[in-house]
Amino acid sequence: MPLNIPDPTFERVVIVGGGFAGLTLARQLVDTQYQVVLLDKNNYHQFQPLFYQVAMAGLEPSSIVFPFRKVFQKSENVLFRVAEVTEILTDENALITDKGRMKYNHLVICVGADTNYYGNQKVAEFAIPMKSVAEALFLRNAILDDYEKALLCSDESERESLMDIVIVGGGPTGVEVAGALAEMRENVMPKEYKELNYKGIDIYLIQSGDMLLKGMSDNAGIQSEKFLKKMGVIIQKNSLVTDYDGETVTLKDNTNQTVSTIRSKKVIWAAGIIGNALNGMPKTAYGAGRRLKTNELHQVEGFNNIYALGDIALLNEGKFDKGHPQVAQVAIQMAANLAKNFKNRLKNKPETAFAYRDLGSMATVGRHKAVVDLSFWKFQGVFAWFVWLFVHLFALIGLKNKVFVFINWLWSYMTYDQALRLIIRPRVKKRAV
Ligand SMILES: Cc1cc2nc3c(=O)[nH]c(=O)nc-3n(C[C@H](O)[C@H](O)[C@H](O)COP(=O)(O)OP(=O)(O)OC[C@H]3O[C@@H](n4cnc5c(N)ncnc54)[C@H](O)[C@@H]3O)c2cc1C
Repeated sequence: MPLNIPDPTFERVVIVGGGFAGLTLARQLVDTQYQVVLLDKNNYHQFQPLFYQVAMAGLEPSSIVFPFRKVFQKSENVLFRVAEVTEILTDENALITDKGRMKYNHLVICVGADTNYYGNQKVAEFAIPMKSVAEALFLRNAILDDYEKALLCSDESERESLMDIVIVGGGPTGVEVAGALAEMRENVMPKEYKELNYKGIDIYLIQSGDMLLKGMSDNAGIQSEKFLKKMGVIIQKNSLVTDYDGETVTLKDNTNQTVSTIRSKKVIWAAGIIGNALNGMPKTAYGAGRRLKTNELHQVEGFNNIYALGDIALLNEGKFDKGHPQVAQVAIQMAANLAKNFKNRLKNKPETAFAYRDLGSMATVGRHKAVVDLSFWKFQGVFAWFVWLFVHLFALIGLKNKVFVFINWLWSYMTYDQALRLIIRPRVKKRAV
């Protein structure tokens, strides 16, 4: 099956992956003298920072994804194909996808990263990741399913293991999930699962280091821990998960090497990511975290027409000598810089080296509880929470999504509830090819 891309009159830029980096680049190359081909394995862009709200039944998936075709409705020079890139043929300036192969003049790799289980196959088999909207939905179903099962379960210890939840990783995602679950226990369970001993639901947050929100300020880490403890989350720091068999989590304490266990049917894995490797790229091009090493013009080491942006890119620049944080702002700024350079090439203007402008970071724990680190000001609490809401609403793509999310948040704010606790299981039906 061919990709059916018309022969270009201009140079062809193929962008693999329509996340924050790929989508920003493609949008900024609209109406330029390039043929831009955007390839993604899904037909929609996903807003990862709000995955946890889908998992916690706070938002519907449709509010945080956006179809690529709608973005490029009016652009003549940007083509989109749903295709998964499986191999790059660097010698031929070509790539292979599950739908066919194509040539490129410039290839921009924006494939992001996937969940890192650090080689632990058993954990990979049983823990629940949250790196796609499909996984967030799976988690939502698993949580709601287990509460339903708990209602029918006569064995007390089994019932507890259906209700208790272990979250691994004390970064922004782990903290946000733990806070949202604690709020669900407080506000929703008494109304909808009153037959369960919901007060006995244990929510564990496991962190390998001695501070939550590593990468943010100490203040943010300390304050988020205080918030979570107040909400009844059990925080185990300096602990490593060494095993999980779907029933029992085994942990090792980093400080005194003692081993302990927690019984739980659900382990949410938010403990790290690893770059999505593409066959055909030389092993030497990859650095720490399986990220592609680039220079400040985003060119992958050893190539002058292959670029990498966002989570998959590893660039040693300024104070970021081990690469930039894998966050949306980095992906967006890298893409904007490369777009500018592509445009400069057309005008024979010099290209600009990338320099990251750190706009700050933030995480929310729950209602009126968030932490914000700006370079000139670090603050926590109610104002931080409103800032978090505003920034995330503003960053969402599509007016309809912004309106839907705003209404949802307003409704939850007023009612202390999110009425979306539906267990929707996809039905698989064969179709003629
Ligand atoms: C749960 C969660 C919460 C987060 N919260 C925040 C936050 O609050 N703030 C923040 O700044 N950052 C946050 N991040 C990080 C942020 O989302 C990433 O840094 C950002 O998405 C990286 O953008 P990217 O374009 O590099 O990759 P991605 O956004 O991951 O996009 C990669 C794209 O490539 C596609 N793709 C992958 N492989 C292939 C292939 N072989 N062929 C075709 N297509 C492919 C994927 O479908 C995807 O569309 C969060 C991440 C997660 C998972």
